[in-house]
Amino acid sequence: MYTNRPVLPEDIRKIVTRSVAKRVIPCIILEFIMLWYVIFFGEMSFRMVGIEVRILIYIVLILLPFIITGVPLKLIDRSWKGEIVAINVDMGLDRSVYGRGVREVSYLVLKIKRDDGKVIEHTMSVFSHSTAMKSNRARSEFAEDDYAVGDKVYHYYGIKRLLIIHKDKSRECVICGSNNPEKNDRCFYCGHSIIKKTF
Ligand SMILES: [Zn+2]
Repeated sequence: MYTNRPVLPEDIRKIVTRSVAKRVIPCIILEFIMLWYVIFFGEMSFRMVGIEVRILIYIVLILLPFIITGVPLKLIDRSWKGEIVAINVDMGLDRSVYGRGVREVSYLVLKIKRDDGKVIEHTMSVFSHSTAMKSNRARSEFAEDDYAVGDKVYHYYGIKRLLIIHKDKSRECVICGSNNPEKNDRCFYCGHSIIKKTF
């Protein structure tokens, strides 16, 4: 199915709304606290400095909630579609494994040409894809087989994972990343809707 603008299934839309609210609400609350402080205690707290410095402090305080929460910068996002133009395997070091030192991991780097002509790189950790494989190299090559140049890619506003439609028409769940066969309406792994309507 095809629509002119991105339409998300109800359950996915709710997740996006919730994650946007999780950013916006703390920002608004912090902003109110800052304004309240500046208005009622500003002069008292900063009377030792001149008016110019005080105004500067006020500006920083008022901007602080935006810097802390990343609003609105992180909310500036738009849906786009594209196509895989190249696939590479990258090796990297993972230092996050607590107590086990450094581990070598491989990443799949998808080069995607977006509809606006821009080519971007999307890095995927290979780990989540086929954990049954023994070596990282083997694992990444296995995952590499899942993707092909020409695969259609969709990014929906507010969703980190991309919707990738494979050659065999299987689609990845945008919530957990599991690959679902064409017939699935819901993800076999997490139960969320598989996005069927593209734009
Ligand atoms: Zn899923």
